Amino acid sequence: MERQFENLYPEARQNEISMRKFNFHTHSLYCDGKSGLREIVEEAIRNDFAALGFSSHAPLPMVNSYALSFEQFQNYLRELEKLRQEFHPHIRIYKSLEIDYIPSVSFPFEAFRKQGLDYTIGGVHLVEESGSRGLWFIDGSSPEPYDRGLRELFGGDIRKAVRQFFHQSMEMLATQKPDIIAHFDKIKMHNKGRFFDEQDTWYQKLVKDLLHLIKEQGTIVEMNTRGLYKKRFDDWFPSRRWVKEMKNLGIPLTISTDAHHKDELDACFEQTQKMLVENGIKTVMVFGENAWEARPLDEKKGH
Ligand SMILES: [Zn+2]
Ligand SMILES: [Zn+2]
Repeated sequence: MERQFENLYPEARQNEISMRKFNFHTHSLYCDGKSGLREIVEEAIRNDFAALGFSSHAPLPMVNSYALSFEQFQNYLRELEKLRQEFHPHIRIYKSLEIDYIPSVSFPFEAFRKQGLDYTIGGVHLVEESGSRGLWFIDGSSPEPYDRGLRELFGGDIRKAVRQFFHQSMEMLATQKPDIIAHFDKIKMHNKGRFFDEQDTWYQKLVKDLLHLIKEQGTIVEMNTRGLYKKRFDDWFPSRRWVKEMKNLGIPLTISTDAHHKDELDACFEQTQKMLVENGIKTVMVFGENAWEARPLDEKKGH
């Protein structure tokens, strides 16, 4: 197998070079992704990736259509371990989960972490209304659940609803301590300028409070490209307007494509490098042997 890859991909280098691609937020057939683990790994090697982290949506104790099942969790870890060994040293493969934080529903992140994950990604896709009247689904391809939840759970009060999203995100950081916070302003995706503006003072205050907690907790922020390449939002999650603010606070950043298909592994990756360099960002976080490391961005990308 090793020889086969050396012949097929003569340019694959074993030594780490910062500009080789990486992605630490990857879905597969184990959850709502469309490609199998092996075909994703092979595609990544073909594209000269140095590192690839898999992050299925973590099992949830409720009926849903997108998360890994509890029954499949051990198989997921076993298959990843096998691939990690088989494809070493062509690519570094990591085991992770994108874990939902829903205060009265989800399991503590620690319960997953101790099963042998290399790192965790924490995210809020379902916002719990404070009276526990239901969950507001803020993600997905259609704005319909977003609009309905806003109407039925929050009486159309966008400030109340958005505040709840950020409070839940902050509670997640403080109590669950994920390594990475996923798409921290995804709440804007289905807004599409209808209910609030990212420049609104009250909204900016919520983001800034979150950023200060991110700094305090040492959480890594991913610049998530999925909105861009799926054409759901004309900006990153979080928006580029926050990059300078994060730079000033010294918040560590990484680049995530949140791939759900093998063809999305590096979608908008170079565009993101370029944008970060243009905003004065010098390094991005990459998982190394056993820990996150800051790797220099290629300054040439900015010109
Ligand atoms: Zn997500
Ligand atoms: Zn994801």
